[in-house]
Amino acid sequence: MAVVIDLHTISNTPKEYVVSFSESWWKADPSGQVLGLASPVDLNVAIYKTNSNKFVVDGSLKGKLHLNCDRCLNEYIEDIASDFSLLFALVPDDEQLKITDADLDFDFAVDGKINLSEIAREQIFIVVPMKCLCSDACKGICHICGKNRNFEQCDCNEIKSGHPTFSILTNLK
Ligand SMILES: [Zn+2]
Ligand SMILES: [Zn+2]
Repeated sequence: MAVVIDLHTISNTPKEYVVSFSESWWKADPSGQVLGLASPVDLNVAIYKTNSNKFVVDGSLKGKLHLNCDRCLNEYIEDIASDFSLLFALVPDDEQLKITDADLDFDFAVDGKINLSEIAREQIFIVVPMKCLCSDACKGICHICGKNRNFEQCDCNEIKSGHPTFSILTNLK
């Protein structure tokens, strides 16, 4: 689904757009980091023009993703939610193109248009955690026997329990 907004139609009065992207909207990404959507992704944006002829896109996004746990390698569902604010400018005539340092935090809108579908996709990649964990308490995979220790206790654990650090942690409980 492409939701293209022509910035020429945007004035100083914020215009609101509410878009829901269905699970089938997601296209596999080359990194394989996001396996897919576990719910539709809801995008809410308000777009308006500033006094300096730029365009602010204030938005929020929420949904659920299928991710792979970096520790136990199992697939799990992560809730995502993000608030963001983006700034766009129309592509100026060449001789007018002067970018000051303060202006470096905006993107040019190609043909004066922005695509909410692309913005949603970018935001999803921004909110995916650097380290994906199915839970903070994920026990991961046993390096010795390869069992997922969230589901199966293995004998290798017993050897580990003799480790001094592990004993201290047990005493704290
Ligand atoms: Zn895990
Ligand atoms: Zn083991």
